[in-house]
Amino acid sequence: MRFWVPKYLIKKWITIAGRKIPIINRLLARRQAMRVFQSLGVSVGPATQRELNYCTEVLKRASPIGLEAFGKLSPAKRVSSMKLLQVSQALVRCEQLFPGIAKGLKLRFFSIPMDLSGLTVMSRRLSSRIALDSIDLARMHPFLSARVMRKNTLKTHRVIRQLAREVGEGTILLNASSWARGLGNVGERLGFAGTTAHEVGHILYSKISKEAYFRWREIFRSYFQGVLRGRSFYTQYSVTNASEGFAEAFAGYVMRDPHLKERWPEAWEFFDWLRTKWAI
Ligand SMILES: [Zn+2]
Repeated sequence: MRFWVPKYLIKKWITIAGRKIPIINRLLARRQAMRVFQSLGVSVGPATQRELNYCTEVLKRASPIGLEAFGKLSPAKRVSSMKLLQVSQALVRCEQLFPGIAKGLKLRFFSIPMDLSGLTVMSRRLSSRIALDSIDLARMHPFLSARVMRKNTLKTHRVIRQLAREVGEGTILLNASSWARGLGNVGERLGFAGTTAHEVGHILYSKISKEAYFRWREIFRSYFQGVLRGRSFYTQYSVTNASEGFAEAFAGYVMRDPHLKERWPEAWEFFDWLRTKWAI
């Protein structure tokens, strides 16, 4: 699926290897994105050192590969207009379907040449939901031990929660370098707009009611078990655990990805239902 560019932002079309590619008016695109941010009260800017430290700490704990191999995270001072446009487009869609969800968000850009697309600074509720989901996943998983997962997860979340309080819960950190590839996540399908929507999905996950949360966990459980038995999945990353599944499916849903409807219709229906219940 391709990123949709509004017609008035296209300067001209060029053809490379038989493919038509739009050349956009960068200045207009940037302005358009800024207008969206302003109307939603969204603040955007380069990540501060504190935010980068948070990110580094999370990565150290979550990533099996050493960070050293990729160098340091740095603040991204300038983000391409195309990326900003995609971020703004994702926010508009999120806001249309779940009014209030994109209002007042804090978006920070960093850069690191590695496969990391973004992360959300965890609130207490988000942290406990994600921790529960990872432990739950280990319970269903044929090779993981729930006991070991529980011990590690709880410890990790304690540390991360502590740090999160210092950087501002709900801040979305996005990798503005073009390295985020090969993760098998929704960003590969839907570009930077998908990545942005994924992170907004985490914020939504922390805000949904208990009823919706438990309902979602059931949907994920049968999805996961289905995948173990050979059912096709939406994105590879959506099978990670219920939280990541939620964020991936949310991105697919708000960006109207037909692939989601086809591969994981229960998720699509869930978000249809959630919208009828949604009020912030
Ligand atoms: Zn995620």
